[in-house]
Amino acid sequence: MFKYQNQIEQMLGKKLKPQANGQVYTHCPLHIDTRQSFSINLEKGLWKCHAGCGSGNILQLTRIMGKEIGVVR
Ligand SMILES: [Zn+2]
Repeated sequence: MFKYQNQIEQMLGKKLKPQANGQVYTHCPLHIDTRQSFSINLEKGLWKCHAGCGSGNILQLTRIMGKEIGVVR
């Protein structure tokens, strides 16, 4: 189990099957993604959407997804 695996799986709402280095490709949670454009490292928490949503760390993803689902602090 990688450092951020639980957290990221909960955020994405599904189980992930990362490579040995923690890297995994999955559907982007930030746009309607029909192919797996989103890569994220479950150990480092670094992510990138190859369709252009951006990239960043786990905190930034939490913030963006919080906005997406209408959670405001
Ligand atoms: Zn995207």
